[in-house]
Amino acid sequence: MINVFEPSVGIEDSNRVSDVLESKWIGAGPHVKAFREELSVEFGVEKDRVLLTNSCSAGLMVLPYLFDLKAGDSVIMPTISFPSLANSFKRLDITIKFCDVDKRTGNVTLDCFRDLVDATTKAIIVTHYGGTPVELEEIKVFASSRNIYVIEDTACAIKSFDSQGRRVGTYSDCAIWSFDAMKTLTCGDGGMMILRDQALRDKASELLYLGLPASDKSGLDKSGSGDSMWWEYDILRPGSRDIMNDILAAIGREQLSKLDQYIERRKKIATFYCEELGSIKEVKVLSQELNDSDVSHYFFTIETAKRNELARFLKDNNVYTTFRYWPLHKTTLYKDVDSKFPNAEYMAANCLNLPIHQNLSDANISLVVQLIKSFFEE
Ligand SMILES: *Cc1c(COP(=O)(O)O)cnc(C)c1O
Repeated sequence: MINVFEPSVGIEDSNRVSDVLESKWIGAGPHVKAFREELSVEFGVEKDRVLLTNSCSAGLMVLPYLFDLKAGDSVIMPTISFPSLANSFKRLDITIKFCDVDKRTGNVTLDCFRDLVDATTKAIIVTHYGGTPVELEEIKVFASSRNIYVIEDTACAIKSFDSQGRRVGTYSDCAIWSFDAMKTLTCGDGGMMILRDQALRDKASELLYLGLPASDKSGLDKSGSGDSMWWEYDILRPGSRDIMNDILAAIGREQLSKLDQYIERRKKIATFYCEELGSIKEVKVLSQELNDSDVSHYFFTIETAKRNELARFLKDNNVYTTFRYWPLHKTTLYKDVDSKFPNAEYMAANCLNLPIHQNLSDANISLVVQLIKSFFEE
């Protein structure tokens, strides 16, 4: 079976994990610290601005507390968003207003949500669809003049650059990445937040770890520095416990060392698909590079009126495909029948994510292309 996504893990990752297990320190320790430092270098931000979590969803779940949102406030997000993003606000009765997306990219633009903004609007949360950069500049200018936070779900954008060459996720209030099993860089599970503001970063750190002060040292560290009662601690807010551990971080460090290689392979696959599928008139490729942006190719998405039939045909021939993300307004919890989301509806009916991951061989991707061509020739 050719998978749509697949992690590249093996002996090197398991050697790193073995080292952690043998050290008997498997919680947050030297590997989490080192991974954080390596990521801050990779993203070109200060180490203090990077926080590691045990999932992207964990980071999304603290957003309402982080930005002091309450029932009666509202947030805007595209209906094509990951479920935990909406769940995070829903369970605190914060109003969610869904907006449509741009059909060319699957991304939100200012025009998609401008009319939804009112006095209750506290944040706009954007998702970089499949790693394609949202053009944030005009959204940020619009939002800052109205005191609206701009928050980014950068789960898919591990190494994307916008049209001005800026690394996606490093220049808004808050961005959150995922290192889950299917992401380009995987830890098995894991996530990262980059926060612009130091006070906000400290608050996030407290929310993600029991509400203990961000500046606090561990009991072990305190015991070494002469404190007599190193077991004493303070609690500042009701936090959860969503930090990364050294087993996950050790895998992440191995993965990070291969990230450029992974992205390069994905770029080659995307280029091959574009060249080969371009000649099929019933197929269109969803745009990934608008202007001069540079993308991490987490998804490769095509549009076709025969989407369901094609997906079934490929599956019957051992090629698994999918569509991300089923529009939230079409689910039971978030059902929204009053609003219209024509582009999201179009994507939900016509778009298909093709296999793209760094384990795919040239023979694999040729087979995918051949199958698609033969499907449309019939
Ligand atoms: C994968 C993904 C998430 C969730 O990440 P987890 O680490 O599994 O919680 C959130 N948003 C988007 C856009 C994703 O693709």
